[in-house]
Amino acid sequence: MIIKMFTFGMYFTNCYVAGCEETKEAIVIDPGFDRDAEAEKVLGFIKQNDLRVKYIINTHGHSDHTAGNGIMKKATGAPILIHENDAVMLTGVARTMSRIFGLRATSPQADKTLRNGDVIQFGRVKLVVLHTPGHSEGGISLLGEDFVFTGDTLFAGSIGRTDFPGGSFEEIMSSIKTKLVILPDHFKVYPGHGPVSTIGEEKRSNPFLQM
Ligand SMILES: [Zn+2]
Ligand SMILES: [Zn+2]
Repeated sequence: MIIKMFTFGMYFTNCYVAGCEETKEAIVIDPGFDRDAEAEKVLGFIKQNDLRVKYIINTHGHSDHTAGNGIMKKATGAPILIHENDAVMLTGVARTMSRIFGLRATSPQADKTLRNGDVIQFGRVKLVVLHTPGHSEGGISLLGEDFVFTGDTLFAGSIGRTDFPGGSFEEIMSSIKTKLVILPDHFKVYPGHGPVSTIGEEKRSNPFLQM
């Protein structure tokens, strides 16, 4: 299993390339950049490691996670996947949100929408889609065998903002409590911003999980 984290832009958004070592099939999670130089870094890594991108996946519809969808799709031919509740944010509302985030790019529309329980397979790797709303209505986490990509739902030492349209503090707390902190302590957390953590570490020290 290959997991490579890149951090781009003024929001320090994490973009991940996850790949199957045996088959070289891979996914790109949250290509949030709007600059070609940043895209080149991701594409360079993909090329160096001989990976073939099967899917581009957005953990949610905010532009700092989706602005590079167009560049990535053009370069790899891979389809864009996002939860059904956030799909509209790629096109209709995208211009407004792009302006809020100060990014130029908008995204092509989703090629396929995701729901809770969907399984994303690339090579021998399977990720289960967990619908974790609260930061946005269609926020997802992607659960692997001993790790989880949490988007802007759970961060190291914090949680996602809930003051954007579609956000809800009750919902994000419910998502985290019912779908994330129930995972084993040793599971790695790959968040949408900030450093990598573990479920155990967040249970111990995340101030939002001490109540
Ligand atoms: Zn966000
Ligand atoms: Zn974000």
